[in-house]
Amino acid sequence: MRDQLEGILRELYEVRDRIKNADELETFRVKFLGRKGILREFAQSFKDATEEEKRTIGNHFNKVKQEVEDTLADLTEKFKKRERVRFDFTYPGKTPLVGYRHLMSLELERVKDIFASLGFSSYGGYEIVTEYENFDSLNIPKNHPARDMWDTLWIDQKEKGEDQTETEKTKYLFRTHTSAYQVKLLKEQGVPLRAIIPGKVFRHEATDRTHDFEFHQIEGLVIDEGANIAELKYVLESFYRAYFGKDLKIRLRPGYFPFVEPGLEVDLGCIFCKGKGCLTCKKTGFIEVAGAGMVHPSVLQESGIDPDSHYGYAFGLGLGRAVMLKYGISDIRLLHSADFRFIEQFR
Ligand SMILES: [Zn+2]
Repeated sequence: MRDQLEGILRELYEVRDRIKNADELETFRVKFLGRKGILREFAQSFKDATEEEKRTIGNHFNKVKQEVEDTLADLTEKFKKRERVRFDFTYPGKTPLVGYRHLMSLELERVKDIFASLGFSSYGGYEIVTEYENFDSLNIPKNHPARDMWDTLWIDQKEKGEDQTETEKTKYLFRTHTSAYQVKLLKEQGVPLRAIIPGKVFRHEATDRTHDFEFHQIEGLVIDEGANIAELKYVLESFYRAYFGKDLKIRLRPGYFPFVEPGLEVDLGCIFCKGKGCLTCKKTGFIEVAGAGMVHPSVLQESGIDPDSHYGYAFGLGLGRAVMLKYGISDIRLLHSADFRFIEQFR
């Protein structure tokens, strides 16, 4: 029986060096330690041995069994480590998230390009402006009822009482329109001027499908000796035709804005029904898209320009409105939402 044990041990040494992976190790385990394995079989035959044999051989048997179990434990550990560093080179890689421009940024570029082709330069302006820039300079003095046309977001400022300096008295607000940059721009650039001022404007009002507290406006400002309403109409018509790629008509109606005289409401021939009347244009054939007019003489004066020698026209159009019409977007709030289901459609 002792020889038998020696045989088992020899077999163990031979086999264990040839085990290359977890599957082969499992075969090894079944062969030596399984229910019908070599060690179990030996133990069975061992039952009939004498007390003397049991003592000497038993001791030896336990050593061989221990050797087999140690081998199993060592190799299990070894293959576990290999498992951890296993790398499947054929597995498809993860595509990294790459940034892209937002719909509104792309559309703004298109708008700038079209106006550039009409001779307009683009200027920035600030989103937080003074009360003077947003109202006073645009012929809207304090307590003028026209101020109520804009629900304004004011910046909170500490009252310092009588000792307040003039600078400290300056009230700041989120611009309610891009027109807030008109006077400053004219003072900086002088005349003649052909400019657009694109940017975000802010209103303190509840939101719904067609209103948002933050939206994009494109201001247009032209000051030149020959500037007139016919040219204004031509510029707007050319812009909308280029933007929508359709032969569209512009309709001007009288409107009121304190910083223009005369003031005009700008309607665009409906892009969906070509003037026949549909749900979008409420059966009128036209959609309101902008406000415009001839720059008020007091605004020219405020900018240091002689209203007798220079004329100018201005317009303010909603970029969001145009984008919504172009892509059939029904809710303006989507334009600055973080909803990827929406944003990703315009990659
Ligand atoms: Zn229509």
